[in-house]
Amino acid sequence: MFSTALTTRGSSIGSHKSLKTAAATAASIYLQRTAIFDRLGGRAHHYSQIADIAKQAKEKAGASGGQRKKSSRSSFLRTLAWWTIGTGAFATLGYYVAKDELEALDFSEPPQELRMLDGKQYKGYPIIDSPDSGDGRQKLVILGSGWGAVSTLKTLEPNLYDVVVVSPDNYFIFTPLLPSVTVGTVEFRSVLEAIRRITKRVGGAYIEAGAVDVDFEKKYVLIESPGEGKAWLPYDRLVVGVGAQSITHGTKGLEFCHKLKTIADARSIRGHIMANFEKAVLPTTPLEEKRRLLTFVICGGGPTGCEFAAELYDFLAEDLKHYFPKSIQDMVKVVIIQSRDHILNMMDSVISEFAEKAFERRNITVITNSRVQQVTENSIVYTTKTADGSLVEHEVPQGFVLWSTGISLTPFTKQICENLIDSQKNRHAITTDPYLRVKGVLDGSVYALGDCASIEYPHLLTHISELFDSAHHTKDNEITRAEFSDFVRRMAKLYPSAASHLQSLVDNFDHFDTDHNGRICLDEFEHMLQYVDSRLTALPALAQVANQEGVYLGNTLSRLARMYARGQLPSQGSMELSKAYPEEIGRMEKDAVAPFSYHHRGTLAYLGRAAAADFGEGKAYKGSNLAAKYLWRSVYWSQQVSLRTRILLMFDWTKELLFGRDLSKF
Ligand SMILES: Cc1cc2nc3c(=O)[nH]c(=O)nc-3n(C[C@H](O)[C@H](O)[C@H](O)COP(=O)(O)OP(=O)(O)OC[C@H]3O[C@@H](n4cnc5c(N)ncnc54)[C@H](O)[C@@H]3O)c2cc1C
Repeated sequence: MFSTALTTRGSSIGSHKSLKTAAATAASIYLQRTAIFDRLGGRAHHYSQIADIAKQAKEKAGASGGQRKKSSRSSFLRTLAWWTIGTGAFATLGYYVAKDELEALDFSEPPQELRMLDGKQYKGYPIIDSPDSGDGRQKLVILGSGWGAVSTLKTLEPNLYDVVVVSPDNYFIFTPLLPSVTVGTVEFRSVLEAIRRITKRVGGAYIEAGAVDVDFEKKYVLIESPGEGKAWLPYDRLVVGVGAQSITHGTKGLEFCHKLKTIADARSIRGHIMANFEKAVLPTTPLEEKRRLLTFVICGGGPTGCEFAAELYDFLAEDLKHYFPKSIQDMVKVVIIQSRDHILNMMDSVISEFAEKAFERRNITVITNSRVQQVTENSIVYTTKTADGSLVEHEVPQGFVLWSTGISLTPFTKQICENLIDSQKNRHAITTDPYLRVKGVLDGSVYALGDCASIEYPHLLTHISELFDSAHHTKDNEITRAEFSDFVRRMAKLYPSAASHLQSLVDNFDHFDTDHNGRICLDEFEHMLQYVDSRLTALPALAQVANQEGVYLGNTLSRLARMYARGQLPSQGSMELSKAYPEEIGRMEKDAVAPFSYHHRGTLAYLGRAAAADFGEGKAYKGSNLAAKYLWRSVYWSQQVSLRTRILLMFDWTKELLFGRDLSKF
């Protein structure tokens, strides 16, 4: 090989001088090798000497050999233990990082082709012949490709249902990183995962369409694909995870605002920010216009608004300052308009104050107790409440407005609520029971989760007499401590959302027992139920809520399918018969599974070179250094749904560190 290399080099260079150099190199390598052999020979001699000495020492050691052996055995065992722990930890980390990819490694057949049912129509629209694997599996239709839908798909056991996913977006968005996309800290594709890759795991099909209506009697969902028209898709079980849309509060001029919910939104924000800077730097732009262009207004001081402000600040402080004149930088204004008296008001007050101070240091203006009345092409009108309660109107020029003031029902979710008007009274979400089953669908075949749904929490006070009767076993109309503990145990199982509050009643039994007789009478019981009711609120619209609900639903659906398959629930045949008794099926399935229970794992907020986390019950973390920023990033990195996005994010963050964010506008 060595000679081949020489020949190749010689021929490619082709000069006498080069040949001479090559020969000299060969000679020197030969000499070096000889020297190495000599040295090795010497070493070998040296090693044999060492071996002799060691042998002598071993013989000398003689009697104390046993002890030595023991200590060398224990050091061997120690080394072995460290190796095992190290390899185990490495393998666990590797598996954890790649587990989604391993799960996606599915060599099964591609999904079945979806066809139309020949010549059949229902209410004027054709019917899709949804997949049927022919082994009696139920048809499971999942609407949406967001947090709730994806965690259901990732938890569902394969080969239990014929799955079809319907969503207008053929990808999942990792929404917590969407604010980072608006300024190019991470790229668009790094926060997306194709829904077909996720659906493949359960052998499911995907249809790019939006659901517009459901016929709960017939068990058909009406879907619409832009430009392709509408069609009915039959289901046995339906999961509604369609999310929510931005709330408008009836404010005029929202067409001049950006929203931040989709990749298209993030893309247009990124273009708009750069366009404003490029226009502002033009020598022909008047000074007032420059100021207007560089005024960025954020309506809404919730996590999305605050994280966008923080990302914008990072972009200005870390990148734009190197590429735009100082005079332009000095004109930049970032303003948050918040209707409440603090930003991040859903988090612990310590975090709200920390965020406000952090923003003050970063020259981000926070205007609280203010309501936006109107947005025009170039300005924003808002009112501020003064100390005496009167309203003062302000109008300021703006070059960019982000509207992020909360969420409301989508037209499809509204349609569902209208179809089930007798059971759906909530105007903000689809109401479900604690098993995530939509109220009003008697057989429990329709589930709703995530931002579009809200679990009905118990109004204990309205059932006070039944509850009081069920709590005490004696005839003296008072509840003993033991009876009360037993009652709380039963209720916590029934209403997991109230479990911690119910438990606190047991812990504070003496406090509620006002006459200190060691028993609870009806009046005292009423105070207890009032206490629990006042603490029960709807779950927040968070990715972690949708994610936990999806995991619960994936497990529940798998369990039910297995129970039907094993005959622990009536077979398909008898189910057909009992279609006449949908409540009976609903009750049976309810008894077969546990209700959903939510565990709050903390809410994170990025605040521009600072981050805060609220773990509930007064536990909060806040840090304003690089460690906090990287901690925030590592949490989201670990929550990615695939190895692909983990790698892309690593590249993006490294790229940003080395070269800064991309300033191109396209
Ligand atoms: C910018 C931003 C940042 C956020 N940051 C955080 C955070 O840091 N932490 C946190 O916990 N939460 C965060 N959230 C909230 C979180 O993203 C939501 O709570 C979560 O996405 C809700 O999940 P979901 O499945 O209900 O809905 P989504 O994830 O919104 O998914 C809804 C899906 O339904 C599809 N769809 C819509 N209409 C239809 C229809 N008619 N038929 C079929 N499909 C339909 C959509 O295309 C989408 O795929 C953030 C949200 C945003 C917008």
